[in-house]
Amino acid sequence: MECAGVGLHSGAPVHLRILPAPAGSGIVFRRVDLDGFEVEAVSRNVARVSYATSLMKKGVLISTTEHLLSAFIGTGIDNAIVELDNLELPILDGSARPFVELIQQAGIRKQRRPRSYLRIRRALELRDGNKFIAVYPADAYSVSYAINFPHPLIGKETFSLQLANGSYLREIAAARTFGSREDEQAMRNMGLIRGASRENCVVLTRDGLENPPLRFDDEFVRHKVLDLIGDLALLGKQILGNVVADRAGHAMHTALVSRLLRDRTLWEETTVEDAGEAVSASMHAMAGQLA
Ligand SMILES: [Zn+2]
Repeated sequence: MECAGVGLHSGAPVHLRILPAPAGSGIVFRRVDLDGFEVEAVSRNVARVSYATSLMKKGVLISTTEHLLSAFIGTGIDNAIVELDNLELPILDGSARPFVELIQQAGIRKQRRPRSYLRIRRALELRDGNKFIAVYPADAYSVSYAINFPHPLIGKETFSLQLANGSYLREIAAARTFGSREDEQAMRNMGLIRGASRENCVVLTRDGLENPPLRFDDEFVRHKVLDLIGDLALLGKQILGNVVADRAGHAMHTALVSRLLRDRTLWEETTVEDAGEAVSASMHAMAGQLA
């Protein structure tokens, strides 16, 4: 299972391949252009976080990890090796759907070892001006997001989701990233969005859309949920807890992750004794090419 595309921010061409990995190995990125150097998808490797989440280890960069990591959580994949031959993941259509399809084409193999979860025991709340993110104890993983963008098509949007029974695939996976024409030049000046196009993001004009239709009326906030789930994957485990975010972004998402991991009184590791859910899933290798 392989796909090719360009990085959203670098514009760099990249091939990506997903391979199975043994239980307990987690998600590991492998730079095949750098002698197979590996960077684990965990919080300690988080490097730059602004308009995307990037990992770095010993100077080796893996950029814009959030959409693929989100797809892994949404499809229940705990262990996989992700090979790429450049520094940024492909943006594809701007959503997680092509990654989900790639995973589904490959097939998912259940592994014998019970999945271990990070169960939230005490609330953690972070604030930064009018931005907010928090996590609260709960028996399942749920996410609630609010945004307030000064644009006639957006304004206040909220979305809540319990990650169960395929809800991610139906409600979140297809939501695309978005950006505005007005911000474009400033972002390009910062060396960002060199790979952006109407094919890989929703482009907002002053009062409308350059590339309609939207996939959901509230596609914007759904994409924020997608990003949040992908950033929280850097915990290295699925969460049992309720995450609430208001106008947060990658920096706050990853701050929540590192604050959680630093304070062991906030959570415990647990396995859920339910045969259906307790198995850890890995990619099952099969040949195939994404159209
Ligand atoms: Zn995104």
